[in-house]
This record gives sequence, structure tokens and C-alpha cells, in this order.
Amino acid sequence: MSPSSIFSANTSTESSKNQNPNSKMEQAFKRTQILTNHLLQSAPSSQTLSSNACLSYSPPELSENYAFDIKDMRKLIDRHNLEERDWLFGLMKQSKLFNPKVRGGKVFVSPDYNQSMEQQREMTLKRIEYLLEKGAFKGWLTEKGEDIEMRKFAGFEVCSIYDHSLFTKLGVHFFLWGGAIQFFGTKHHHDKWLRDTENYSIKGCFAMTELGHGSNVRGLETVTTYDSNTGEFVINTPCESAQKYWIGGAANHATHTVVFSQLHINGTNQGVHAFIVQIRDADGNICPNIRIVDCGHKIGLNGVDNGRIWFDNVRVPRENLLNSVADVSPDGKYLSSIENPDQRFAAFMAPLTVGRVNIAISSVYQSKVALATSIRYALTRRAFSLKQNEPEVLLLDYPSHQRRLFPLVAKTYAMSFAANYLKMLYVKRTPQSNKTIHIVSSSFKATFTWNNMQILQECREACGGQGLKTENRVGQLKGEYDVQSTFEGDNLILMQQVSKALFAEYMAAQKRNKVFKGLGLEHMNKPCPVIPLQLTSTTLRCSQFQVI
Ligand SMILES: Cc1cc2nc3c(=O)[nH]c(=O)nc-3n(C[C@H](O)[C@H](O)[C@H](O)COP(=O)(O)OP(=O)(O)OC[C@H]3O[C@@H](n4cnc5c(N)ncnc54)[C@H](O)[C@@H]3O)c2cc1C
Repeated sequence: MSPSSIFSANTSTESSKNQNPNSKMEQAFKRTQILTNHLLQSAPSSQTLSSNACLSYSPPELSENYAFDIKDMRKLIDRHNLEERDWLFGLMKQSKLFNPKVRGGKVFVSPDYNQSMEQQREMTLKRIEYLLEKGAFKGWLTEKGEDIEMRKFAGFEVCSIYDHSLFTKLGVHFFLWGGAIQFFGTKHHHDKWLRDTENYSIKGCFAMTELGHGSNVRGLETVTTYDSNTGEFVINTPCESAQKYWIGGAANHATHTVVFSQLHINGTNQGVHAFIVQIRDADGNICPNIRIVDCGHKIGLNGVDNGRIWFDNVRVPRENLLNSVADVSPDGKYLSSIENPDQRFAAFMAPLTVGRVNIAISSVYQSKVALATSIRYALTRRAFSLKQNEPEVLLLDYPSHQRRLFPLVAKTYAMSFAANYLKMLYVKRTPQSNKTIHIVSSSFKATFTWNNMQILQECREACGGQGLKTENRVGQLKGEYDVQSTFEGDNLILMQQVSKALFAEYMAAQKRNKVFKGLGLEHMNKPCPVIPLQLTSTTLRCSQFQVI
């Protein structure tokens, strides 16, 4: 109803109080006519909405010149394999599997998170198969050296920017299953499994966590014994809490897994070891004596099929023990060059650092995605005028908006450089640098992923209601990336390990009357900080504060 018709209806009601029944009938007839006219009015209003600046937005890079060369900026931030990254993004933009959309003359790709869990899982698999066919993972497990490691990092970073499920499913297959074969296994494992893993004819998963034990890996309850009569290991889930839980790839697609289990030899528990087990045949049927159940829908990462696995005395050949640290002879003797079970466990777990390195890097990229989106939005969205009839103010012109976003941009730059440092530390690793890599990767993984969740929340709020729209990604990323603070080492547990290791190093250096060096905490060799009575913000910001 138009405002004028409401007005006329109301005035006629007011005046009807003092009228006779006939005129009341007339009034009712009039009102019916007005309503009928209104309902029959089919011609659209000739008035059109005036165009608002934010509705005719085009991305700044299409119209503005920058005071710096974007390529140089990329070299500074992404550092390496820039052409490789562009090629991979190009592959994504060319395929409908990646949902390409043209906006402002540019092609953008992002997953459709409105799809069902089943659809998201199938899309993740199809995307991997497409990239595989185009050669995106060539050499990832069969080549060695710095060059392939850097290529792998670059490719993986691009996949992470696209979608966390793609990143995680690839990570489980190449870095956890493939990494276990590479680092826990020896030559015959490499010869037998790596090529088929690289070409995805074997789909691997990594069964460490159990319902009863996640962070406490040494407390796992799966038990493996050795049968010297047949030369086989027998793997068993002895109780409900020993069921493998959250195993990425297990619910639908994985054909093989590496199982982490206590190894009992002649009645002695030799601790946690890793074994290769086939869980599905070539037709996708679950193998005998194995039970698999889906973990179901999650708050994010629904493109990954996490599952639960039970082993009912599953038999595997003796060669399926990944034996880089310890072995069992055909007649059933336990053999290891590392006597101490604590040291053996530490040596065994050491190669798992690469997962943490990848997660630390990927979380910084997500912070960049969210900040880029919210800052662009703040450059188009206007709210409130300072004076009547003046244009409304751009969000980014509000000091409060600048203060909530710009420090996060500065932090993200710092973390981006730190992530590059960690990457180089890992690629140039030596046996002597393993401890440093463990400490730096654990602390960076925890700090960057916690920081990423804070940034995602701040950016979501900075976009107002638009931040909640799935298509705009920022809000959705919170659910997708939350798990990064839990898997590959719970953040709190990692920080406990970091403090323990640093404290032990410090105490050892003090005992030997030596300086503490190599872990970025050299300032601790100087006298303890004295906190001045007047603790100003300038004092806190001073780089010398720690040593005042
Ligand atoms: C989506 C997803 C995918 C996963 N994929 C895999 C996979 O492919 N393969 C695999 O093996 N696992 C996988 N996991 C499992 C993951 O690695 C574990 O969830 C993780 O290690 C934490 O274990 P938990 O869940 O048992 O938590 P818990 O270890 O039970 O921890 C629960 C809480 O207690 C706290 N806590 C625990 N111990 C202490 C302590 N000593 N002091 C103080 N606080 C403590 C922790 O900080 C945490 O907040 C996945 C998990 C998820 C959610």
C-alpha cells in the first residue's frame, strides 16, 4: 500500500465516527476501491533507486597505480616459485571443479560451502584427481632436494589458500602417510610405496589418534604382537577406547593406513611403533577384520572424510613395520640402536615436524585472505555522516576501524616473514638443527593458528552482517580453520613442550656456565629485566625493555 493510500484510509476512518449508516457504506465502498486499485496496480514504479558508491565498487587494482611493484612485493612475501604458483592458480581458474566466478573483470575461485558433506568430499577428491592429472604433484615423493621441497611448499600453499579441505586431504596423503613411509620407513618401503602414493593409485591415511588418547601418543592402546610361525604382525583393537578416531581419508577413500600401536614382543612392551595396513581393496571394499565408521559432519573441513577404525587381529607381513628406528628379526627379536625408550620415541616422532610447518604457513595465508577482504570492504562501505547532507564516512576512515585492522596487518606481515624463516630452517635441516626445528615449528604453529582465529573473528565483525555470508568466506573460515589449534599437536601441549625444552636448555647452559644461544632467546643471558615503577607504553615498546 502506498503511503498516500494509507493516509487517505486513516483520515476516512477518523471522520466516520459521526456519520450515518449510508455514508458508512459509502466509506467502506471507497476503501475497497482504493485497496482494489492498489492490488491491481501492475506497472512498476517509474522511480529508480539512486546508485550508491559502494554498489559500483571495482577492485582498486583495476584502476589504481601503486607506488611499488606488485611483483617485488610478491617476491618479498611469497618469496619463491612464483610462476609455479600462478600456473597452479591458472589450473584452478580453468576448471569448473573450482567454481570460477568473474567479478570486476577478474576470475575468482572458491569452494561452494553450501554443498552437503558428501558433495564436498567428492569435490575434494575430484579436485585432487584433476590437479594430479595436470602434473601438480609430480616429484612430490619421488624427487629429493631443496628444489622439490620448495616446489611442494609453494603448491601446498596455493591449495591452502583455495580450501582447507583440499589442503588437509593432500596433507594427510602426501605429508602424513607419504612422510611416514619416507621418514619412518627404509629403502624397501620407499621402493614399494612412494611411486604409487605419488600417482594416487594408493590413497593413504594416518591412524595415530584413538578415542581414548590424542595428545598422549605414548598412552595409545592398540596392541601389535609378532607371530614368528608365520612372520606376521597381528594388530588388534583391544577395547573401545583404542578405536582409531578422526582419521582423515578413512571414512570414504583411503586404501591404506599407517597404524600407530604398542609393540609387544615376548611379553615386553617396546612402545609405540608404526605399521602399514591395507584397509580397502581396489574396488573400495573394506578389508576383512577391519571395521570403519564415519565421524560425521563437523563445524568445518567437511570436504575431508574423517573416520573411526577398529582392527580385529589383522595380520600384516613383517616388512610392514616401518623400521628406521627399530626392527623385529624373523625369529622375533626386537632390534634397535637406541636403547632408551624415551629417546627412541623422540627419534621416531621427530620427522612429524613438517605437518606443523605447513599448518603455521597456511594459517598466515588465511589471515591474509580475511584481512584483504575486510580492508577492501572497509574501502567501500560507508556508515554515518559527520554533518547533515554530507556523504557518509568510509569505514576505513574511522580511526577505530584503522586501529582494529592495521595492527593485525602489521602482525600478519611479521608472521609471514617468520613463516618463511621457518620454511628455510626446515628445508636446510641437519641432524643438529632438529631440536631447533621442533621448538620453532611447535611455537610458530601454536602462535600463528591462535592468532589466525583472532584475526578471522575481528575481520568477520569488521565486515558486519556481510561477514556472516558464506560466499564472503571470512566467517566460514572460522569453522574451517578452528581445528588447526588441535590437530598435529594441540597448541597448549605444544607450548608446554616448548617451555620445557627451553627451560632445560637454559638450565643446562647455566650449569655449564655457558651462554644460552641458537633459539632466539639470547637476551636471557643478560641480567633479569627490572620493571620500572613508571611502566609507560613507550617503555613496553622499547626493544631494550627486556634488558633494562
Ligand atoms: C578434523 C580433525 C582431523 C584429524 N585428523 C587426524 C588424522 O588424520 N590422524 C590422526 O591420527 N589424528 C587426527 N586428528 C586427531 C587430532 O590429532 C587430536 O584431536 C589431537 O591430537 C588432540 O587430541 P584429543 O582430541 O584427544 O584431545 P586431548 O588430548 O584429550 O586434549 C583435550 C584438551 O585437554 C588439554 N590437555 C590435554 N593434556 C593436557 C595436559 N597434560 N595439561 C593441560 N592440558 C591438557 C588439551 O590442551 C585440550 O584442550 C584429527 C582431529 C580432528 C578434529
